[in-house]
Amino acid sequence: MIAARYTQGGGFAVTDAPEPVAEPGGLVVRIDAASICGTDIKILNHGHRKLRDGQTITLGHEFVGTIVEVNGSSNGFAVGQQVGVAPNIGCGHCGMCMQGMGNMCPAYSAFGIDRDGAHAPLVAIPRAAIEQALVIPLPDGADPRAATLAEPLSCVVAAQRATRIEPGDTVVIYGAGPMGLLHVMLAATSGAGRIIVADRNPARLALARELGAADTVNVSEQSVRDWAREHAPGGVDVVIIAVPVPEIQTEALEILAPLGRLCLFAGWPRGTTGVPLDTNAVHYKSLLVTGTTGGAPRDYVASLKLIGSGRVDVRRVVSHVYSFADLAKAYDTAASGTALKVVIAAQP
Ligand SMILES: [Zn+2]
Ligand SMILES: [Zn+2]
Repeated sequence: MIAARYTQGGGFAVTDAPEPVAEPGGLVVRIDAASICGTDIKILNHGHRKLRDGQTITLGHEFVGTIVEVNGSSNGFAVGQQVGVAPNIGCGHCGMCMQGMGNMCPAYSAFGIDRDGAHAPLVAIPRAAIEQALVIPLPDGADPRAATLAEPLSCVVAAQRATRIEPGDTVVIYGAGPMGLLHVMLAATSGAGRIIVADRNPARLALARELGAADTVNVSEQSVRDWAREHAPGGVDVVIIAVPVPEIQTEALEILAPLGRLCLFAGWPRGTTGVPLDTNAVHYKSLLVTGTTGGAPRDYVASLKLIGSGRVDVRRVVSHVYSFADLAKAYDTAASGTALKVVIAAQP
């Protein structure tokens, strides 16, 4: 079958890969839709710390599909059922796993990161993923091209849980890429009073306004610091950084109001150094500084509900849909940096 394959130290290729088989207690899922993530592109360019030199994997951790094989005990799953899969499989017995937070397990394994993922027509789901409640049935009639975004949305849900947006809050979101835009839509449903989005791409800022931002700052014309001085002199309640620029963290601490909350949502490749932070501002303004990565199964379930009800219309951040035959083109588009979310669908 066709697959988007990455070899640590050897690069990326759309090539032929063997079809997977289900391990005892596991499943094989036929992909209905999968999306390409910034993390996939980061892996192409920088590799991944969880991969050994020379190790080859099929990329893709955002996906939904239909069960086509059940090996042995079905655990309640059946051929023909449509499922989404939260992609981080924990060790199953550490403190984080006991709390249902496999994404924070020190020994986690993930589809498309260190095991074969879903940028291929078929993916094997191990028994451990079922046992950890990572395989989640989709509601009847779900649109797979939207449901595949439950994974990225789950990361946004996890971040906003940690950041505790309260009704009426002024929320600044740095970055109007797909993740920043999902943050805009979710913050709007969470009762944010005023959402401000900063980016340098006018088209993306225009979309941010359509999706709920009251104001936007084009940072090639004005800094958010200057914007805040004029429009939010008392400071803002929440800052979410969804763009990998370390210097923004310094500015974020300055513009936060007392009792403000900061989420360092974007990570950057290893080797990029961070910036010194004014920890005295954290002390005297009683700030909450947090960071999140990935989402837990409960965040994935919440995301499916938000997508299903239309409360978060994730289709607004999908810019391209390709078939598996155009897998190479899908990656070219995603790597160009000009697309929003690129989706690969069995039926585009
Ligand atoms: Zn992702
Ligand atoms: Zn664990």
